[in-house]
This record gives sequence, C-alpha cells and structure tokens, in this order.
Amino acid sequence: MNGLVEGKSSVVTGGAQGIGLAIGRRLAQNGARVVLVDVDQARAEAAAKELSGETGAKVIGLGCDVTSEDAVHAAAITTVDRFGALDIWVNNAGITRDASLRKMSVSDFEAVMNVHLKGTWLGVRHASAIMREAGSGVIVNMSSLSGKSGNPGQSNYSAAKAGVVGLTKSAAKELAHRGVRVNAVQPGLIRTAMTEAMPPDVFAAREADIPMKRAGTPDEVAGTVLFLASDLSSYVTGAVIEVGGGRYM
Ligand code: NDP
Repeated sequence: MNGLVEGKSSVVTGGAQGIGLAIGRRLAQNGARVVLVDVDQARAEAAAKELSGETGAKVIGLGCDVTSEDAVHAAAITTVDRFGALDIWVNNAGITRDASLRKMSVSDFEAVMNVHLKGTWLGVRHASAIMREAGSGVIVNMSSLSGKSGNPGQSNYSAAKAGVVGLTKSAAKELAHRGVRVNAVQPGLIRTAMTEAMPPDVFAAREADIPMKRAGTPDEVAGTVLFLASDLSSYVTGAVIEVGGGRYM
C-alpha cells in the first residue's frame, strides 16, 4: 500500500528533535522525502541520517535559522534543487523564554516573537511562493493551546501562538484559489525537551487538569500533521486543530 504522502517533498523546521522529528518520521514512513531544518546544522544532519536509516526514505538535514529570511529562502530553494519539488512545509521551530510580565526582558519577548511568528511568516511566504506556481501544496503551522487560553509567564509565547492562528487564516484565504492549503495545529501539553524543563510538580499539576489525565506524545501531534499534509484533508484549509487530550473545551 502506498503511504499517505507518497512521493511528496517536505520540509519540517525545528526538525532535529521533539515534535518536529516525530513529524519528519511520520512523513518519511508515509512515503515523503523529508528535509529536516534546524538552527543547529550538525543535529539536523545527525537526525536526518538516523531517520533515513530507520525508514529507508530520503531524508536530509539542513542548518537554517528560521528568523533569517535568506536562510528560509535558501532552505526552500535547496529542497526544490535536491528533491525536484516542494509539496509540504511544516513551520514547527520554537523556543520558550518564560517569565512574568514584571521580569520578562524585551529581548525575551522579541526572541520568542521572532522564532514563532516571524519564522512562521517567513516559512509561509517562501514555501507558498513555490507552491502557488506549482498550483498545489500544503503548509502546516504549529500554534499552541496557550495561544488560545493564555498561560501565566508566557505573555510572549501565547501572543506569538495566537498570532500564528491569524497568519494561518490570512494565508489560507490568500492561497486557497491557488491550490495551496494552510492549516494550524494547537498541541496542549506534550512531553518534549521544551516541557521537561518545567518543574515536575508544575508538570504533574498541568497533567491533572487534562481530561485525558496525561500529557501527549510528539507522535500524537505528528499524526494530526500527517492528516493535514495528506489528501485525507483535501477540503480543509484555514482550520486550527487542537491536540490537547480535551484540555480546552
Ligand atoms: P523542542 O525544543 O523539543 O524542539 C524545537 C526545535 O526547534 C529544536 O530542535 C530547536 O533547536 C529548533 N529551533 C529553535 N529555534 C530555531 C530557529 N530559530 N530556527 C530553526 N530551528 C529552531 O520543542 P517541541 O518539539 O516541544 O516544540 C515544537 C513546536 O511545538 C514548537 O513550535 C512549540 O512551541 C510547539 N508546541 C509544543 C508543545 C509542548 O508541550 N511541547 C505544546 C504546544 C506547542 P535547538 O534545540 O538547537 O534550539
């Protein structure tokens, strides 16, 4: 049986670990060629080698800081050069710089806005430039439930993730008639390096608040991204799908 994204050429930003790597794995297992993009080139290359060995798919790792327009443009062009097309682009790269409003520095605010909001905008801009010419393509943006509910200590992150929703909808409206779909995913609490930095008692308290009583796994987010990247969702655009174990309802 063919995979859900057989023969497609895909890019995942922040792909060296965590949710991004799980997305890359799902895409590779389903027949796509994958470019894992990460700010740390050596880790991107190591992750690509591992994924390629594990799945037999063509996977390459590229160094790219998503806050740099030149770097994002180069990643898109390199994908087309190496794989002949650009069909799927996942804006996943992320950082946190949590602090109360009293303590958060302007540079903490700007760093988070730059990676999540500017980085996603740059990805949408450069991926869609290629996709609209081809007349097809899929973009998936990583938002977060904290962009909907807000979290204390995350005024920068929550603002950026809410911004990703507006960006997704604008781009979806602009690009729909060109055959390009743009959707977003809002994970809740997912067990990765980003959340393992939380104090264990805070993590446990957050888990207890979730109707399903547990954190999610990176692969559970990746499954939703695979759905949005595949033709199973061919009539879905401008949508924001929660992957939160029922946390926000
Ligand atoms: P991780 O920290 O595990 O992975 C994020 C990856 O992005 C890292 O490899 C990181 O590289 C990379 N990265 C950071 N800055 C840049 C940059 N400027 N350019 C390119 N790559 C960069 O995070 P998660 O896997 O947990 O998160 C992935 C996404 O999911 C993020 O957008 C996050 O906000 C979102 N999310 C996560 C949730 C969770 O509970 N974990 C919940 C909701 C949303 P390096 O490590 O070298 O800095």
